[in-house]
Amino acid sequence: MCSREQCPETPREKCRRAGRKPKTRLLNEARKRTRLNRKVLIGRLAHPAPARRYNGRGQPRMISLRGVEKFYQHGPSQTFVLRRINLEIRPGEFVSIMGPSGAGKSTLLHILGMHDMAWAGEYFFLDQPVHKLDKKRRGEIYKQNIGFVFQSYHLIDSLTVYENLDLPLSYRNVKKSEREAIVCDTLDRFQIVGKKDLFPNQLSGGQQQLVAVARAVIANPALILADEPTGNLHSGQGREIMELFKKLNSEGTTIVQVTHSEVNAAYGNRIVKLADGWIVDH
Ligand code: ADP
Ligand code: MG
Repeated sequence: MCSREQCPETPREKCRRAGRKPKTRLLNEARKRTRLNRKVLIGRLAHPAPARRYNGRGQPRMISLRGVEKFYQHGPSQTFVLRRINLEIRPGEFVSIMGPSGAGKSTLLHILGMHDMAWAGEYFFLDQPVHKLDKKRRGEIYKQNIGFVFQSYHLIDSLTVYENLDLPLSYRNVKKSEREAIVCDTLDRFQIVGKKDLFPNQLSGGQQQLVAVARAVIANPALILADEPTGNLHSGQGREIMELFKKLNSEGTTIVQVTHSEVNAAYGNRIVKLADGWIVDH
């Protein structure tokens, strides 16, 4: 857990407690230190994301969907929610999926995130045929490469905020002390240090969404899949999350977000539009 040594009171908290105004210079220095620390630690994550090894020409596709279809069976009839989806996403892209409610956006994202395997067609992730892999191998690929922000957060109710954030790091080969430093830095970065010992049901919807985003990015995954990641945040927080995504994307992270917001979509470099389960424009 986050002991006082690993997660000390921030300078701002110290000043607040003592009734003093925070000293900006000291604060900036402390921030710089944690950022440097994070850089070193992230650089030492045991399994660097494979997609980052590819650059320039001859890049593999990170994601390739061919003829993906999904339907739900209602008695004798079938309701299609995705139709003949062909989609290619290269490493380093920032794609926004847009479309009306019920168009199939979340369904598509869950297929990309390998949570849903009840569909037809082919899905290649970094040239590995996901449609042919067993659950164990898919789980390994997911844990090593993907951070997912669920539309309804899906934090683990029985774990505290701290433990929820620690989980993705525990899938990587990171030492416990390093994990503690990364979690503490992330809590600080998302301004949720005070919530670290609370359980998800003790948080507001917006706070849960912040934790969900923090959990998706904490292990520096090669691919972030985010389903309306700012839907429950106020505009300032939403902007900060989009700026964070933009920065991560500029550092090489591939991002696919579902959004209804034209402003958020403008942070990306491509829009894929869905309507009634069909890709209508991309
Ligand atoms: P979006 O995210 O674009 O709003 P979804 O991907 O969540 O849409 O849903 C696409 C369609 O699939 C919707 O029409 C929804 O009603 C339908 N759907 C989702 N889950 C089920 C289910 N378990 N059974 C039947 N239909 C479903
Ligand atoms: Mg949805």
